[in-house]
Amino acid sequence: MSKISAPKGTRDILPSETAAWQYAERVFADVCGRFGYQEIRIPTFEQTELFQRGVGDTTDVVQKEMYTFEDKGGRSMTLRPEGTAGVVRSYLENGMASWPSPVRLFYNITAFRYEKMQKGRYREFHQFGCEAFGSAGPVVDAEMVSLLDLFFRELGLKETSLRINSIGCPTCRAEYNQKLKEYLKPHLDKLCDTCQTRYDKNPLRIIDCKEPGCRPYVQEAPALLDNLCPDCQAHFNGFCNNLDELGLKYTIDKGIVRGLDYYTRTVFEFVSEHVGTQGTICGGGRYDGLVAEMGGQPTPGIGFALGVERLLMELQQQQATMPDPAGITVYIAALGSGAAAEARRWTLRLRTLGVRAETDLLQRSLKAQLKYAGKLGVRYTVVIGEDEIKTGKIKLKDMRQHCEQEMSFEQAEQLLIEGDE
Ligand code: ATP
Ligand code: MG
Repeated sequence: MSKISAPKGTRDILPSETAAWQYAERVFADVCGRFGYQEIRIPTFEQTELFQRGVGDTTDVVQKEMYTFEDKGGRSMTLRPEGTAGVVRSYLENGMASWPSPVRLFYNITAFRYEKMQKGRYREFHQFGCEAFGSAGPVVDAEMVSLLDLFFRELGLKETSLRINSIGCPTCRAEYNQKLKEYLKPHLDKLCDTCQTRYDKNPLRIIDCKEPGCRPYVQEAPALLDNLCPDCQAHFNGFCNNLDELGLKYTIDKGIVRGLDYYTRTVFEFVSEHVGTQGTICGGGRYDGLVAEMGGQPTPGIGFALGVERLLMELQQQQATMPDPAGITVYIAALGSGAAAEARRWTLRLRTLGVRAETDLLQRSLKAQLKYAGKLGVRYTVVIGEDEIKTGKIKLKDMRQHCEQEMSFEQAEQLLIEGDE
């Protein structure tokens, strides 16, 4: 029979990699906790309408990349392409507006987007993210950046740069969009097809176009940052001041946009200095209009999402130290079938005490058992036979020091508990 392969754009994370994943997850949860963020877990799929409203009908994600299906009840469902929409839905559904403000949440999710497979671009991928609701000022924006900065530093990630921008509020953006359209009008026929539709629906998004044909016009276009209203300008200045106060370095990049109406003011990205277009590890921004758009009271909010695959790729490239997969501490070999039962009992006892222990499951010869233990790379081996059971004394062999020591079962337990810490 022919073999079935994993769907295009998905990948298995094998045991040799999971230690690094678990480590990144642990450090992220830990850093988030220090900043007062609590974990939220949201469903993998939601009603399609949530993303149409929450991510925005005019975005590439909604127009081209969603995994949408009809369930058996005839409802349109979509595998989440990102986390913010689901978190906002949950915020409203669970009355979090009455929780002490600001409400700070973090998540660790899989996300699904129907995209062209490339390095660092998958159809199922993982995101870490944070959302903070209820604080409009730029202090929380800078605090969020400092959380990311600390997370990267604790993982040993260097060579990432922070780019920031402001995309204003609906008032200054409406004026700017007019200006942008006037500027683009004479070049409209030279822009790509997608940008031609963006021109009417969401002109700001043209600034984000990566098509080589559009680049020259984009580069010359007026920037929203130069056209902010006084309130948005003050907010941006405040953000910069807060970053300076915390000693966080940044570059102002007028080309970063998030082309949704309810994204407002602060936007930022952490970009790797050596990966090309897939170099954005993390993107974030303020969405002061989103909660209201989803049916809640107007509530300011800000968040980011970080691509875990890209983060780990980057860590590997920068040769950051990551923990190795935890191995087995002790192998208990059995000599003879009577001893095998005792070996299994003692193995279970060690495991109960918290020790990583293994014993034979394949009725192998003593020689084969020890060969297997060698392949596992265990720190210690013990052989249990009739003699050991009779005398209550075993020889614990240290495979690293190449020496062995005779002791009671209890003494060995003590030593192994300590050695497994
Ligand atoms: P890009 O410009 O690379 O398509 P994006 O703007 O679509 O990114 P966001 O929606 O801001 O990405 O998602 C946040 C982060 O999630 C990205 O910075 C990236 O690290 C990661 N990410 C997004 N799409 C993918 C994907 N298809 N595969 C792997 N990681 C992804
Ligand atoms: Mg994308």
